[in-house]
Amino acid sequence: MVKVQVVKQKAKEGLFSSTQAIIQEAIQSLGYDSSMYELLKEPLKMLTVRIPVKMDDGSTQIFTGYRAQHNDAVGPTKGGVRFHPDVTEEEVKTLSMWMTIKCGIFNLPYGGGKGGIICDPRKMSMLELERLSRGYVRAISQIVGPTKDIPAPDMFTNPQVMAWMMDEYSSIQEFDSPGFITGKPIVLGGSKGRETATAAGVTICIEEAAKRRGLDLKEARIIIQGFGNAGSFLSKFLYDAGAKIIGVSDVGGALYDPKGLDIPYLLERRDSFGMITNLFENVLTNEELLEKECDVLVPAAISNQITEQNAEHIQADIIVEAANGPTTQKATEILTKRNKLIVPDVLASSGGVTVSYFEWVQNNQGYYWTEEEVAQKLRYKIKESFEQIAHTSETRGIDMRLAAYIVGIGRAAEASMFRGWV
Ligand code: GLU
Repeated sequence: MVKVQVVKQKAKEGLFSSTQAIIQEAIQSLGYDSSMYELLKEPLKMLTVRIPVKMDDGSTQIFTGYRAQHNDAVGPTKGGVRFHPDVTEEEVKTLSMWMTIKCGIFNLPYGGGKGGIICDPRKMSMLELERLSRGYVRAISQIVGPTKDIPAPDMFTNPQVMAWMMDEYSSIQEFDSPGFITGKPIVLGGSKGRETATAAGVTICIEEAAKRRGLDLKEARIIIQGFGNAGSFLSKFLYDAGAKIIGVSDVGGALYDPKGLDIPYLLERRDSFGMITNLFENVLTNEELLEKECDVLVPAAISNQITEQNAEHIQADIIVEAANGPTTQKATEILTKRNKLIVPDVLASSGGVTVSYFEWVQNNQGYYWTEEEVAQKLRYKIKESFEQIAHTSETRGIDMRLAAYIVGIGRAAEASMFRGWV
């Protein structure tokens, strides 16, 4: 167990330094000097908190939580809060840097932020989760707020957690503050379309990538790794669009059928943490699933899934990253050499933060949009950003990840320059 922990830790350390390396390359190619890289190579602020929580059995447990704010030159920082046993300080920092890139790509008036708590929500009761969520907000309340830093859902957090957090923040401030957090239930000022936004964004990216590779989605064979919020809604959208979903997975393993899986049945049976394989015998491993023949592969689970160990064996022509950081930099190089089209996480998984921005705008103006309006605005933004990044990638002869970083970090750099920070 300790060994597994150490290996996971190491893998995440790799993500931080490889993110710094791409940021450095992007900053250089934009023509800034090294002081700009010094500013952007890690978060401006990182708060660590320890949260005492009364457990149902009467004991008290102390949880460690983090909030990272990468850069607020463009505007308040923005990004989700994850509840997961493997959360590390370095991971939260890295994720906040990715949020700066995402907000930059989509021209959102934000910088990047991210939060996390080391805990296992699968082993906690609703009351324990509520006390933890409220305790976290009390601990970070001085550095967050609708015009400072706006949290949102991430791995294993959901609209209910957002509702508790919003309620706690509103009590501290003594006025209702829906714009403090996004991803809320609709009745508390959530936006229509927020829950399905990440999957909707990935779907649009798959359509755009398919067009570029001359692939008809109705003919496409698709594998999705992960059956959480993104993976499950995505499988539904693609299934409804007529694509054949031939593989899906969860933490316990993978299901695979070249004739196509019965997605409505799987969606009906999945639990709230996205578990589905426990209902079947003879499941494949996640590693085996990634290497199966398909047209589009969507890693929608955790980081570091496609590495230099398996990049040579990936058969998909198009890889669309719905998870944060599923492909290592070495693997990106190998796949690019093999002429695979990789739509990077910072572009493909940004439907969530984009509709979070719409939610915040609606909260600020107190006027709410229809589902169609949200869907239309999201489609417009994703297509626009996809085209800009594809264009940057083609004209500069670089992969789409570096192109996305150039566009994304460019806004934080320009705003920092105008503010006179560098
Ligand atoms: N956690 C999501 C992400 O990584 C959404 C963040 C947000 O909505 O602010 O993009």
